[in-house]
Amino acid sequence: MTSWERRIERAAELEKRVPAAAALLRFYIVVGQASWPVALNSEQLRQLVARHGPPLLAEAARNHAEPAESFIARVLRQAEAVGAAAQSQVTTGITRNTCPFCGERPVAAVLRPEGEGGKRYLLCSLCLTEWEFRRMLCPNCGEENHEKLPVYTTKEFPHVRVEACDSCRQYLKAVDLTVDGLAVPEVDELAAIALDLWAAENGYTKVGANLFEL
Ligand SMILES: [Zn+2]
Ligand SMILES: [Zn+2]
Repeated sequence: MTSWERRIERAAELEKRVPAAAALLRFYIVVGQASWPVALNSEQLRQLVARHGPPLLAEAARNHAEPAESFIARVLRQAEAVGAAAQSQVTTGITRNTCPFCGERPVAAVLRPEGEGGKRYLLCSLCLTEWEFRRMLCPNCGEENHEKLPVYTTKEFPHVRVEACDSCRQYLKAVDLTVDGLAVPEVDELAAIALDLWAAENGYTKVGANLFEL
């Protein structure tokens, strides 16, 4: 599993390369640096969000209101779940559509180099466990017909693609490590937010949301 240091380092690299996601990544770095090596309590996190969060979230944090309270709860829950998953020895070599460790839905797919091509995994939206998943299979509805499973790519993100399903109209972004071996799936997923906007405009819903409810 990726260390927090590596996640923060990657977020800092992508912050320079992807202006559209720079504010989000900067905030991710602040939250990460403050809360991952040591567990903050909710009041400390609230102060952090109030000081460094995007304007609406910061204002909500000062007022102990939504959406800041949910965000703080998610950060705390994720830190705990990632720690617990790292200690566990859960079996990850099975195709199932929810996390084998915590039961949450996937936030992204990951293609890792193997043999001539790439092997597909799903990444848990909560505890960041990766588990194997068949290449041609919708993680939401189980569609297997490749004509119903279009893949969309862009020049802007050569290593991130949208894997959609036209049966249930859901999608995940897949981070392709055979194209960019330095990618950190949960961070690159966040940086490619432009693809989520494109997918929403085209009537697709994401299978599982990330830390920022995107
Ligand atoms: Zn999980
Ligand atoms: Zn589907």
